[in-house]
Amino acid sequence: MVGRDGPASRQQGSDRGGWIATVEGAHLRGRPTRDTAPEVALRRAVHALGLRFRLGRTLVNRYRPDLVFPGPRVAVFVDGCFWHGCPQHGPTRFRGPNAERWTGKIAANRARDRRVDVELRAAGWRVVRVWECEIRRGVEVAARRIAVEVRGHSWGSATTG
Ligand SMILES: [Zn+2]
Repeated sequence: MVGRDGPASRQQGSDRGGWIATVEGAHLRGRPTRDTAPEVALRRAVHALGLRFRLGRTLVNRYRPDLVFPGPRVAVFVDGCFWHGCPQHGPTRFRGPNAERWTGKIAANRARDRRVDVELRAAGWRVVRVWECEIRRGVEVAARRIAVEVRGHSWGSATTG
């Protein structure tokens, strides 16, 4: 999910008390919350590989992955680099008056992501997380990574199962 994280992102609105307005924060508040460009690009690429998925499916514990493949039980999340703390683009070192809050917020998001993965896996789902920047770098590579999970690990090999 890019800029949208179920319960976590809903908190952003109510959680604003005490935050100090910054230039950095201004563009984040205005970012799109659904059907972001990376999500749409990924869906297209996955579709082009002949894979069929569901959008907006609610799974166990009310988790809503971005793409769901009910048959093979694969759940795909598109993670925004900023909010989910991508190793390359996540703001690991904040400066300014809100530094502690940002750090805490992203740490909480990351912890939540790990919890979601654990709980979905326990419920029999395979979880694929795709970074926003991975999609920007090469959406087809990202789509193929999903295809591997959906079609099983024989995908791309010489043998067919
Ligand atoms: Zn990134």
